[in-house]
Amino acid sequence: MREYKIAAIGGDGIGPEVIAAGLQVLEALAAKDGGFRLQVEHFPWSSPYYLKHGHYIPEGGLEKLKGFDAIFFGAVGSQEVPDHVSLWGLRLPIAQGFDQYANVRPARVLPGVKSPLVNGQGIDWVIIRENSEGEYAGNGGRTHRGLPIEVGTETAVFTRAGVERIHRFAFELAGKRPARHLTLVTKSNAQRFGMVMWDEIFFEVARDYPDIRTDRELVDAVTTRMVLKPQTLDVIVATNLHADILSDLAAALSGSLGIAPTANLNPERRFPSMFEPIHGSAFDITGRGIANPIATFWTASMMLEHLGEPAAAARLLAAIEKVTGSGVLSPDLGGKATTAEVTLAVCAAL
Ligand code: ATP
Repeated sequence: MREYKIAAIGGDGIGPEVIAAGLQVLEALAAKDGGFRLQVEHFPWSSPYYLKHGHYIPEGGLEKLKGFDAIFFGAVGSQEVPDHVSLWGLRLPIAQGFDQYANVRPARVLPGVKSPLVNGQGIDWVIIRENSEGEYAGNGGRTHRGLPIEVGTETAVFTRAGVERIHRFAFELAGKRPARHLTLVTKSNAQRFGMVMWDEIFFEVARDYPDIRTDRELVDAVTTRMVLKPQTLDVIVATNLHADILSDLAAALSGSLGIAPTANLNPERRFPSMFEPIHGSAFDITGRGIANPIATFWTASMMLEHLGEPAAAARLLAAIEKVTGSGVLSPDLGGKATTAEVTLAVCAAL
């Protein structure tokens, strides 16, 4: 029996609700499959935990996480803690500390789900976000705090090694998809240094992948292409900030933030990778039992793929599609189903 150690961090808002639903589905899947078992440990790290203890991750916490095969993460963000404190307190120390440099974000309109675009069926993308440096490198500071001459700097950091490895990852992933098409997104007309280096390294790496079709767009132009000609895009590679924004757009165009998954990968597997829905804490619906768990289920499927259980991953995705196709939809998708009802329907479909 193959056994995987999973660290579950529900976090804030609807995070614990969707992670509980995700674990329920994973349990049903493991029981059905019979070939693998999940050993799950729960970590209470969240904003209430921070307000009580003064930290999100306790001393030795990251060290402890290293012993797991994967991290199943809900959301972080609270009305009682500034967003930059919660983000840098929990999610970023894990993603950056474990060198999860490849953030993979698929977007597709699932059966039964309505895209706000008339041509939404053309959406079948994977956005690859550089996840370890760039605009979120944490490089900057504030001088003359509170004075009229106060200065704030936020320096994007792009390293040749960091850029090359994300491009290589993107080409490898594009090569596994039928369209074999990769679009480079930067803003190298206005930003002449790091962005131009991104472009140059992309085309250097491209020489090693002659069978992959490439093109390039500026980040502003690609937003219009996503809306007007979604079928002309396949895999997109972009920096931390740009891909963060593009993937929220992609999620909305695919029907709802409630279905979009993401994987934070350390492709070399020196550290555990982290799997989470794209959405945040969603305070407006927290505790009401109506959070859409589909993003978390799709995320769980990506986790199984990464753990080396592709058959179970495919079966879970098929069950998700069967359920959305049959019209069991949560309110964000125009339906009336609760989190529990969607979860039970997916378990039954499995
Ligand atoms: P963050 O800054 O943490 O990314 P946010 O506050 O900008 O988060 P979300 O918390 O993701 O954004 O919520 C944005 C909107 O999408 C809210 O109206 C929320 O209710 C809705 N939403 C997000 N996730 C889900 C979900 N799983 N099910 C239903 N609605 C959701």
